[in-house]
Amino acid sequence: MPGPSSSSDGVDPSMPLAGRVALVTGASRGIGAQIARRLAKSGATVVVNYPDESQSVLASQLVQEIVRDGSIAEAVRADVGDPPQIQALFEQIPARHGKLDIVVLNAGGDAVVKSIAETSDEDFDRVMRLNARGQFVAIQAAARLLRHGGRLIFISSSTATQPYPGTASYAGAKIATEAYIQTVAQELAERGITANVVSPGMTATETMLSQTTEARRATVVGATPLGRIAQTADIADVVHFLAGSTSRALNGQVIHVNGGLL
Ligand code: NAP
Repeated sequence: MPGPSSSSDGVDPSMPLAGRVALVTGASRGIGAQIARRLAKSGATVVVNYPDESQSVLASQLVQEIVRDGSIAEAVRADVGDPPQIQALFEQIPARHGKLDIVVLNAGGDAVVKSIAETSDEDFDRVMRLNARGQFVAIQAAARLLRHGGRLIFISSSTATQPYPGTASYAGAKIATEAYIQTVAQELAERGITANVVSPGMTATETMLSQTTEARRATVVGATPLGRIAQTADIADVVHFLAGSTSRALNGQVIHVNGGLL
């Protein structure tokens, strides 16, 4: 008989991700850091990816916090815009932790806010490097390395489906990656792996606050049925659901976490 803290399948309901190994890209701060905390709180071993030396202190502080709270984590530096670094990041996880169960492709942004007429080739390539090409290479690596029953989750943006002036390259890159995810969702289903997209609306992170005016934020809040922007925990909770076994029949979906701003 299962004890009071066990479900009928023997899983401790307070630690539904115990024994799973997760990678979260771009996890040193913002939404990614909150996702790493959330998965670790449910028992997952978490690889906290960060891009460069400037984020190494934040990444190691997050790892220390997770370890202090009783889970396993490590910080791994890799630029998710650079294919060889992406390959190395993914390949070391099964080598070090025995397997890879959950991949959250969160690293993104670096948006160039310019009209299409003003966008240079370099601007376009920079946005595509991280938000489309890097994601494609990461999805390839995940497709090869995720084990049976794995979970692949991409953090898109409401801008992908609701672009506004100045966002073409970023919106186009995000919508392209949504298409990669919906394709791989069908290709991996026979291995019991699901792939889904979480599409946040405006979410309170340092980066978002530095890139938007108070007037723009007030406009979004005013137009949002729930009357607020998202907090990072709102996004992390949805990712946590997708990462677990109770989301088993969800595949190839785009879940909009935007307070009802349709
Ligand atoms: P953030 O606070 O800037 O966090 C992004 C993280 O990714 C940072 O740790 C960043 O490191 C890292 N990163 C950047 N380039 C990278 C690279 N080449 N390789 C590895 N890591 C890299 O951004 P956020 O607001 O949390 O956004 C997280 C995700 O949500 C992004 O994909 C973004 O497009 C999406 N999103 C955000 C919002 C929002 O309103 N916040 C809304 C919709 C979608 P650095 O700090 O060194 O750059």
